Amino acid sequence: MTAPDIPLSAPDIPLSAPDITDAEIDAVVSVLRTPRLSLGPQIEQFEAAMAAYIGVPHAVAVSSGTAGLHLALLALGISSGDEVIVPSFTFIAVANAVRYVGALPVFADIDPETLNLSPSSVEAAITPRTRALIAVHTFGRPADIVALLDIANRHNLRVIEDVCEAIGAEVGGRRVGSFGDAGVFAFYPNKQITTGEGGMVVTRQAETAQRIAAFRNHGRYESGSQAPAQPANTWLDHAWFDHVELGYNYRLSEMQCALGLAQLARIDDILARREAIARRYCDLLCDDPDLLLPAVDIPGQRLSWFVFVVRLASSLARADRDRISHDLAAAGIATGRYFAPIHLQPAYATWRESAHLPITESVAARTLALPFFNRITGEQIDRVCSVLRFASRGKS
Ligand SMILES: *Cc1c(COP(=O)(O)O)cnc(C)c1O
Repeated sequence: MTAPDIPLSAPDIPLSAPDITDAEIDAVVSVLRTPRLSLGPQIEQFEAAMAAYIGVPHAVAVSSGTAGLHLALLALGISSGDEVIVPSFTFIAVANAVRYVGALPVFADIDPETLNLSPSSVEAAITPRTRALIAVHTFGRPADIVALLDIANRHNLRVIEDVCEAIGAEVGGRRVGSFGDAGVFAFYPNKQITTGEGGMVVTRQAETAQRIAAFRNHGRYESGSQAPAQPANTWLDHAWFDHVELGYNYRLSEMQCALGLAQLARIDDILARREAIARRYCDLLCDDPDLLLPAVDIPGQRLSWFVFVVRLASSLARADRDRISHDLAAAGIATGRYFAPIHLQPAYATWRESAHLPITESVAARTLALPFFNRITGEQIDRVCSVLRFASRGKS
């Protein structure tokens, strides 16, 4: 076997890139001139701004999207012996968070058109131990949240929306993240908006929000929030060193919150720009018979473009996809093979036997994420498309 010839130098056209303006830099620097670097006014403003943007009463900032998933599961009472239905065609954090609380992730297959959880596959995965499902809005396209909520209602399941790839996406004029028991956002640098590292959990439930806020801060309940009742002889000073439950340090710093606020202030422009880039890619690639392009206009929905993922026609195989990816890399163009199915990862070896996910495996073998970031130029898009057309024609 020969080693893959990926160039050692950085690609000319990266897969993603953050979009940081002077407004973001000034916001972070101003925080550094104050004495409050954690748990100050920025976190409160960032939480209030996110809650208002999504259209829910509560938002709790956390240190990552993964931390948000972990705390949402804890706050909703998911624990060992419980089963949680998740997609395998997604980022591994979704299943890992279920394991952090001692519960068992159960994989359901996806819809080949939306690449989101297939409601019938979810229904088939339900057992008497199923307590929750995580509805991921994959690549910024809303999941079939109405059907999933209906299944959850009929089987008394909690619903966590993973909105880490879909901030601002809408179903029926309502923003995703506002439908389930909790919605989890992430602000890693490749997301639509970034805080470097960071996350946010939104919810309509005051109690869920208070529990998440306590879990992120060593199990401390803030004054004014309702801590669970305690036995009489516990040491409670009603002060900073009261630790009511086993908590974590999943806080987001004031600098990160200031960065997030400045990014959120530009979100309409950011999402519009990303949509324009997606449309340009579609215009340039739509007549290539070897490529399946993502839908851009879906009645009743608004997409939020996280990545631009093309799929190869079923006549092409995983080896073709990998060759095309190498050809693009050789031309200085980065691509991503999103997503390697979770149930086929070494960390999930014990899931491999039981999982029957033919659509996930077929789709995952043929996806290719193209360079996609706010400041990509028209010329760069043209170059990506011409190299891609040339590469995809040379079938192996
Ligand atoms: C990015 C992402 C997360 C969270 O990622 P962090 O790196 O922990 O912020 C979770 N789920 C999905 C689907 C994601 O894309």
